[in-house]
Amino acid sequence: MDTQAQSRRDFLKRFSAAGAIGISASTVLAACGGGESAEPAAEAPAAAAPAEGCMDTTGLTEQEIAMRDSLQYVDVTPDPEKNCLNCSLYLAAAEGAACGGCNLLKGPIAPNGYCISWAPAQT
Ligand code: SF4
Repeated sequence: MDTQAQSRRDFLKRFSAAGAIGISASTVLAACGGGESAEPAAEAPAAAAPAEGCMDTTGLTEQEIAMRDSLQYVDVTPDPEKNCLNCSLYLAAAEGAACGGCNLLKGPIAPNGYCISWAPAQT
């Protein structure tokens, strides 16, 4: 098993435990590496997003929506150095789709989005 897969598994285990006892988003941030890095930013693709961007929470539970809110997910990153595309938790969009996913947050995720749990992708 590679180190990145092990690290991701450890993180997800810790995050699941954190959700069960209701700890704060800042603790989650610390669990995934603190969200700071000198890693260079990846270019977000210019794929056309749907009219609502990747903010459509249709079909998500209240808890899943609350998690997106608590981690302050936004469709357009406020920091060009940090976006979902260069986050280790990002799941690439299917070919032709504008929105990808996230190992942490449910629902559509914009490649140029951001949340406070951003963690640099390993290169
Ligand atoms: Fe990373 Fe984006 Fe998921 Fe936040 S929403 S953890 S920045 S991929």
